[in-house]
Amino acid sequence: MLSRIALRKHPYPFKASLAICNDLDGFAFENFIELHRFLNTQTNTSLGTGLNLEIGDSFWMYCVDSDVSCAFSYFEGLSDEPSPYADAISKLVRAGYLDCLHTYGNFNQYGGFRRSYAEKAFAEMERRGMRVRTWVDHGDMHNFQNINYLGGMRERSIGGGVFTKIVEYHTDLCKKFGIKFYWPMIVTPLIGQGRRIGFRDIARSRNRRKWLAGSLLLYGVLRMMPHGVLERRPVLLRKKDQLGLLVENPLIYKRTLASGDKVYCFQRYGDWFSDGADSLGKTLSAENLGRLIETGGSSVVYVHMARKPAGCRGILPDAAVSAFKRIAGHYNAGNIYVTTTSRLLTFHMATENLAWRATSHGGRTVIDIDMVRDDIDGDFVPAVDDLQGITFYTGDPANTSIRLAGEVLDGTVCNPHDDTGRASVSIPRTHLKFPESL
Ligand SMILES: [Zn+2]
Repeated sequence: MLSRIALRKHPYPFKASLAICNDLDGFAFENFIELHRFLNTQTNTSLGTGLNLEIGDSFWMYCVDSDVSCAFSYFEGLSDEPSPYADAISKLVRAGYLDCLHTYGNFNQYGGFRRSYAEKAFAEMERRGMRVRTWVDHGDMHNFQNINYLGGMRERSIGGGVFTKIVEYHTDLCKKFGIKFYWPMIVTPLIGQGRRIGFRDIARSRNRRKWLAGSLLLYGVLRMMPHGVLERRPVLLRKKDQLGLLVENPLIYKRTLASGDKVYCFQRYGDWFSDGADSLGKTLSAENLGRLIETGGSSVVYVHMARKPAGCRGILPDAAVSAFKRIAGHYNAGNIYVTTTSRLLTFHMATENLAWRATSHGGRTVIDIDMVRDDIDGDFVPAVDDLQGITFYTGDPANTSIRLAGEVLDGTVCNPHDDTGRASVSIPRTHLKFPESL
């Protein structure tokens, strides 16, 4: 029955998806690597036996002053010289673990970013095969490279019809390089994006009032939060847009920057005012992870893991270690798909925009994937690698083939019934391989 063919929201058998999207601010290289050995391998580490998850991180190409939010960077300072960390950063980017460019570097307090730094960074990344598709804005007002700021602004009016060029503009270079997903400093306090919020609360209203009641309800709840989430400027942009976004609750949304460039942005889930490592104890509490599963949503978690409570001597506070163990438990139980930010966003965009059709050929069901619809950068045929985990419900998995642009995909996996009572067929997932030496 072709009518029973449907695209599953998450890779089989998972019910929800999660990525940890850490900003590396303040991380010493040795601690950073030790943390990722704990998260991404099965070796013994100072934090315990590795959890063997697929958790990515962010990186910098430059660092203006190592005393200000110091962390390691690819280049030595602002120079052309690779730092002692360049090879390790390059390996981790190519392995898929460093998957977010946390802007080009840390320009806190000093400023000084220019477009030429972007050109130099991308040329080097291109030369070394360091492909990255996710951008995360960073830091204080001196970070002119932020796309939410001068980085996403081509020119500026100085009156009388006269415009000056913005020398920090670079978003066109990002797009040309292949950066697809951008984070312009919006944090939602609700876990589980890609689904409407407050539905149960507004179930008794009708038509337009449903949406209105939900909006007002959410607004009221957010205003009552201790830190006044909606009252602080960094997360606001324009209040109405921000409110609308929180109510709509997408994971990925389209935005036109001041430059006129159209980009795909994503929200992160977390606590803007308490974003250190120990905040993971609350943001990823058993209750919140349960809610994530219940809603069937996807979240990209906002955190600065190098920020630790006073007195914490280890790399991570116990609350964070426990949170990661909870995540690992849900991953191993087949509840929550845990992967890198870029992989999660790529999967989410594909499932939301996949153009596919099912036909019957001599008693066999064939699912043809034609393309991913993309009305910003143009429709495209995805690489198989970017479709991994894509799962279709089908009445007879063993008798169902998946074709991509007309070619039958080998090695598709048949899955038994899940909790909806339906069987399915999947494009297999691969696990990233953590580099053995760094
Ligand atoms: Zn940062």
